Amino acid sequence: MTQAQKKQDVQMPIQFIDLAAQRARLGTAVDKAVINVIDHGGYIMGPEIDKLEKQLAAFCGAKHCISCSNGTDALVLVLRAKNIGPGDAVLVPSFTFAATAEVVALVGATPIFADVQEDTFNLCTRSLAQALQVAKDKGLTPRGVIGVDIFGQPADYSEIEAFCKANDLWLMSDAAQSFGASHQGRKVGTIGLATTTSFFPAKPLGCYGDGGAVFTDNDELAEIMKSLRVHGKGTHKYDNARIGLNARMDTMQAAILIEKLKLFPQELIDRQKVAERYEQGLKDVATTPLLRQGNTSSWAQYTLKLNGGGRDAIADALREKGVPTAVYYPKSLHQQTAYKDFPSAAASLPVSEKLSQQVLSLPMHPYLDTATQDYIIDCVREVLSN
Ligand SMILES: *Cc1c(COP(=O)(O)O)cnc(C)c1O
Repeated sequence: MTQAQKKQDVQMPIQFIDLAAQRARLGTAVDKAVINVIDHGGYIMGPEIDKLEKQLAAFCGAKHCISCSNGTDALVLVLRAKNIGPGDAVLVPSFTFAATAEVVALVGATPIFADVQEDTFNLCTRSLAQALQVAKDKGLTPRGVIGVDIFGQPADYSEIEAFCKANDLWLMSDAAQSFGASHQGRKVGTIGLATTTSFFPAKPLGCYGDGGAVFTDNDELAEIMKSLRVHGKGTHKYDNARIGLNARMDTMQAAILIEKLKLFPQELIDRQKVAERYEQGLKDVATTPLLRQGNTSSWAQYTLKLNGGGRDAIADALREKGVPTAVYYPKSLHQQTAYKDFPSAAASLPVSEKLSQQVLSLPMHPYLDTATQDYIIDCVREVLSN
């Protein structure tokens, strides 16, 4: 089939993430759930919150789930619960979304940037060791590591855990992109002292607004975070035991997530199928994502590494054919204006720097039909071979 013939079977415009297709699949379930909340009136911490937390904890096998306002506040809740502040250092990857480092600076501590691996784009333990030394050299107290599961694949936690244990650091997993994935048989949500996630609409499990959650098996930490998310409440609402924040999830978002969670297991299977089809169709023209043995991914993004240069021209050519792409992330954090003065593991972080020039993400969602995907593959192949 020619590209023009393939295009005839494709519904234009192609969506990068197709929330409308998911909405069609959901039918009226979400509408009913939202109207139910409007009618029962428990808009803040209504019954759906507790129900969702129990379902999410059961989904991944964590003891506690603390729902909250978004994935960024989820990170803040853990840092505040661990009393992280001025003089403390937290080691983070540079190739990630800003929130991972932002929260460390926000609580007054110092983020130290480590480099990532060329094949998985996730934290490199060798660079972590250098970051730890930098923290010590600067007279900071190293407290913990935030591992990020970039694009949906868990970081190399077995190695990172050993590093944390050897150096008396806690491990937090920023799983904003990887809820639903697993590492060596362990579900995301059960790794480290605490795992955070985001339900931003474009994440693998998204709500219709902002939302997030923290997972932990630690009873004491869970209690503190439940207090922190409601202004540091003590035994009752107007008893302030600690300085907290307003970080609750809206009941309506919980009601939406309860319905979306029902589709989520099948969506994970369908995302994996999309990833496999891309892999088959593109592995000889670009570097396709490597899934480390023992990992499953929730495929938040399907990100190619371009072998040559010319990314902008490639993205433009694909856009002209109706294929949307995105660049996550065009700049690593240690190169961003807001973060460039924080320390890094080394004078340069070559892998993060190179990746930010090479990566290109393709449309990825569970409702990508094979005709559309074959058209995308055809277009990418043509553009990359020109
Ligand atoms: C999206 C994201 C966050 C922040 O989540 P929000 O819900 O948007 O606050 C944090 N870390 C990573 C890696 C993310 O991708």
